[in-house]
Amino acid sequence: MTKIAIIGAGASGLIAALHAKNRDNSIDLYEKNSIIGKKITVSGNGKCNIANKNITKYDYFGNNLDFLEYGLKEFGFLKFEKFCNEMGLYLSVKEDGKVYPRSFESTSVIKIFEEKLSEKGVNLHLSSEIKKITRQNDKFILEPNGKDINFYDKVLISTGSKASPKLGGSSFSENMAKSFGHNLFPSYPSLVQLETKKKQVSRMSGVKIEAKVTLLSKEYKKVSVEGDVLFTKYGLSGFAILDISFFVSKLLLENKKVILSIDMIPEFSIDKLQSIMIKNCRNNPNSSFDTMLMGLLPLKIAKYISFELGFAKKRLEDLSLKDVKKVIYLIKDFRCSIEDTHGFDYAEVCGGGIDTLEVDSKTMESKLVKNLYFSGESLDIVGKRGGYNFAFAWMSGYLAGKSLKG
Ligand SMILES: Cc1cc2nc3c(=O)[nH]c(=O)nc-3n(C[C@H](O)[C@H](O)[C@H](O)COP(=O)(O)OP(=O)(O)OC[C@H]3O[C@@H](n4cnc5c(N)ncnc54)[C@H](O)[C@@H]3O)c2cc1C
Repeated sequence: MTKIAIIGAGASGLIAALHAKNRDNSIDLYEKNSIIGKKITVSGNGKCNIANKNITKYDYFGNNLDFLEYGLKEFGFLKFEKFCNEMGLYLSVKEDGKVYPRSFESTSVIKIFEEKLSEKGVNLHLSSEIKKITRQNDKFILEPNGKDINFYDKVLISTGSKASPKLGGSSFSENMAKSFGHNLFPSYPSLVQLETKKKQVSRMSGVKIEAKVTLLSKEYKKVSVEGDVLFTKYGLSGFAILDISFFVSKLLLENKKVILSIDMIPEFSIDKLQSIMIKNCRNNPNSSFDTMLMGLLPLKIAKYISFELGFAKKRLEDLSLKDVKKVIYLIKDFRCSIEDTHGFDYAEVCGGGIDTLEVDSKTMESKLVKNLYFSGESLDIVGKRGGYNFAFAWMSGYLAGKSLKG
């Protein structure tokens, strides 16, 4: 009987376990948390965004995106949907491609996986942290919780990345891959909030706007995203910030200076905004400058602009064309230097990780160590926001599981 250990019961370890189990093997699935799939439970802002229907390799970042090609053909969305439906888990696919369980509740996903693992005879060990893996002859040795010594023929490391340690994030995969001679790309937080020392940002804390955020950098040209921007005490949050954070985090890792330009009214061009303001000045000459801005932007932003320009006491009849242009400049190109990300504790995912050139893209087996496998976020593949990261975890876990079965 082949003895298999799967370390980490997140998306990739769970699907791997179900596909690896047969009558001729025994599977121990180790999870340090007291429940399986903790990151599934918090995904999609509680609505459980577990996949995306429209996936290409261009939805991911990594040093070797060709690694994804086989998996995308072999375990695309339709196959994932079929797998879910066969387990009794039905999906809801939104227009933007985001996929949720039909119930929009993660508990359904967790419950179904728990039952299937038990039905299939996978030995699930919860609250069981693996500290290290050693090798003796052709066996792997694991000491769950530092107690028993267990020998295995094959091991899958599906312990994810160090993003969000409170939910189970750990550097176990990196440490073990390194100990087995694998090359690693330095990991960096992604889908994460950004920190700035710019005082005006913390003064506007609590304000949320729909904006366009552009990265001003020589390395990444034309990177800009539209969406929510939330001003906070430490810096910037919101979907647009999470979306652009991959590029920012990578530049910070390389010690590059990062400046973001925020367009606070992206739906109006500069010319359009100018004509709106000039018309407003003509129609309402006795209104205060603050009142005009409050018709366009939240109060705290209006106050910041009038303070910055010294226009607090101005009435609209006193505004010159030059004044209007200064206002528009601050609204359409609010510059913010980014000093850091908010860190691994708050990141949804990590970029970097195990070099995929040293892992077989069809089986997820290490090319350096026979019978050692890696899947999911531990690998140097990170996706955009919107279900892509789970999609890769399912895909790589599926391929690993099939191959573990032998
Ligand atoms: C707040 C948040 C929201 C997210 N929302 C989305 C979303 O909406 N859509 C999306 O696609 N992605 C989302 N993600 C990212 C997604 O959760 C991950 O990409 C995905 O979970 C990776 O799956 P994985 O199986 O590789 O790793 P994980 O899900 O991290 O699973 C690894 C498991 O291994 C366990 N483990 C770690 N070390 C050990 C050890 N030494 N011994 C035993 N067990 C160990 C961990 O406890 C964990 O359960 C979100 C992440 C976070 C943090």
